[in-house]
Amino acid sequence: MIAPRLEIDLEKIQFNARTLVSRLAPKGISVTAVMKATLGSSEVANTLLSAGIKTLGDARIENITRMRQGGIRAPMALIRSPMSSQAARVVKYTELSFNTEIDVIRLLSDAAKKAKRIHGIVLMVELGDLREGILPNDVMQTVQAILHLPNIAIKGIGTNLACRSGVVPDAENMARLSALANAIESFFGFQLEVVSGGNSANLHWALSGADTGRVNNLRLGESILLGCDPLHRKPIIGLHTDAITLVAEVIESKIKPSQPWGTIAQNAFGIPAPPKTNGPIQQAILALGRQDIDPSGLEAPHDIEILEASSDHLVVKTNGLSHPVGTEIAFQLNYSALLRAMTSPFISKLWKKRTATILPSRSPAEKARQLIPAYKESL
Ligand SMILES: *Cc1c(COP(=O)(O)O)cnc(C)c1O
Repeated sequence: MIAPRLEIDLEKIQFNARTLVSRLAPKGISVTAVMKATLGSSEVANTLLSAGIKTLGDARIENITRMRQGGIRAPMALIRSPMSSQAARVVKYTELSFNTEIDVIRLLSDAAKKAKRIHGIVLMVELGDLREGILPNDVMQTVQAILHLPNIAIKGIGTNLACRSGVVPDAENMARLSALANAIESFFGFQLEVVSGGNSANLHWALSGADTGRVNNLRLGESILLGCDPLHRKPIIGLHTDAITLVAEVIESKIKPSQPWGTIAQNAFGIPAPPKTNGPIQQAILALGRQDIDPSGLEAPHDIEILEASSDHLVVKTNGLSHPVGTEIAFQLNYSALLRAMTSPFISKLWKKRTATILPSRSPAEKARQLIPAYKESL
């Protein structure tokens, strides 16, 4: 079979999404599914919509455009602040964007007016992680400025934690977000539809029994795709953690010494870690490299240890068990490895599904981006 490939089990992704939607619903929290690790896959988008997800989010307008071209009609949100240069595209392809800069919102307003559309805005608030967000003290003034802009509707506020500095979503910062929502509503006299509390890192807080206040939306990517809590990289009980696996092929398999010989300087990617073992080992090379994956984000089967990766080679130790040339090895991925694998044109995507209801997209744009044909399989 073609290798390397990502095997993507749509049924397991659907199960994860459905489970998270139903766990959060009693708290009055809706789920925006974050698609960025799927490169705007309409297969995954359709799967998530069939699991009860109502809104899709992505950080890149290119992925959103791809989903639109793949026939996805659901409301979509651009969850990264739009580039000024992309205002017209943002208005054309999304209903909603997350913003922190009034100058950009002005451009969105101009573009929306031209396109005769109303564009929704969620204002992102800085609550300590120091990535995107308006400082809390500037929120009222920003809302005031937006109210004057034609063809713009303020839909809500949101925040994002745990992404840059690892700040944990907790009772205190979430209460701050709720208080801001209340303050905006009472001062300006209109209702905010959306109070978007954060990403997969918020799940622990949201499901802990804590008072979730005004928070009525979370944006979930990693937890749906990998069944994983990004705060501690632990599996979330009851979710599939193996919905996506990466399969690569062995291109060399030999007994070799553990220790290199000659004068040692840097390798292609910096200073290599000195080998931990002495004496001969069973070493295999897989046709997979840093162009395709983040090697530190791969989890090998128990009898295999990842030693090094260069651009095109993944060197592993195969603990006695021989993995001859031509055989395949399957790896689990973390979010970082998944992002890169999805983006690599050298990795084909194998969509696994048990029912015929989710049809893969065959739009010309979808076909054109696949340098290597994707294979489809029914179980
Ligand atoms: C990527 C991203 C998310 C999703 O994060 P996960 O940890 O994958 O759930 C949510 N919000 C924003 C703004 C993001 O950039």
